[in-house]
Amino acid sequence: DHRVTRAANLIRTVLDFPKPGIRFRDITPLLGDVDAFGDVIDVMAEHAPANASVVCGVESRGFIFGTPLALRLGLGFVPIRKPGKLPGAVVEQSYDLEYGSTMLAIHTDALHPDDNVLLVDDLLATGGTLQASKRLVEQLGATVAQIQVVLELVGQPGRDSLIADGVQDLFAMI
Ligand code: IMP
Repeated sequence: DHRVTRAANLIRTVLDFPKPGIRFRDITPLLGDVDAFGDVIDVMAEHAPANASVVCGVESRGFIFGTPLALRLGLGFVPIRKPGKLPGAVVEQSYDLEYGSTMLAIHTDALHPDDNVLLVDDLLATGGTLQASKRLVEQLGATVAQIQVVLELVGQPGRDSLIADGVQDLFAMI
């Protein structure tokens, strides 16, 4: 798909950011190209499951892709946020990141038990972020219908750990 190739070519690798030894994938050149950015949302929408009832995006780059995708699909958007950001009652999950450890939270009234969630983030590495996000969705009784990421890092355990966690539908564009 030429759209995927063009998007991939607009993601640059920055060495030693934010710490020595990290090869950081920087999506900002892709976001700045309106045609390529639009293509990414198109491809994501084409792969969305028909039964999705809501899009959940993970702070912060999951918001960048999740919100236009939700609008494109005619669905609402629910943010999964870092602690201390959501004003209402929340459930929280702690998790390990590629560099560090943190927590994520979701409003307890944001999802209903019959929701089929399309869970979105920019990048899959170890899978810790999306595993924690999936647990938040399930703590509210809802189901993860699909996980979508723009970029999957090869040689990282993310995909296997999510599948081991029961994820049946994982679409990584690049
Ligand atoms: P994981 O939890 O190890 O799968 O890491 C994925 C999360 O970390 C995502 O929310 C990404 O936004 C962020 N992340 C990890 N590595 C990178 C990177 O190289 N570029 C951009 N974001 C990254």
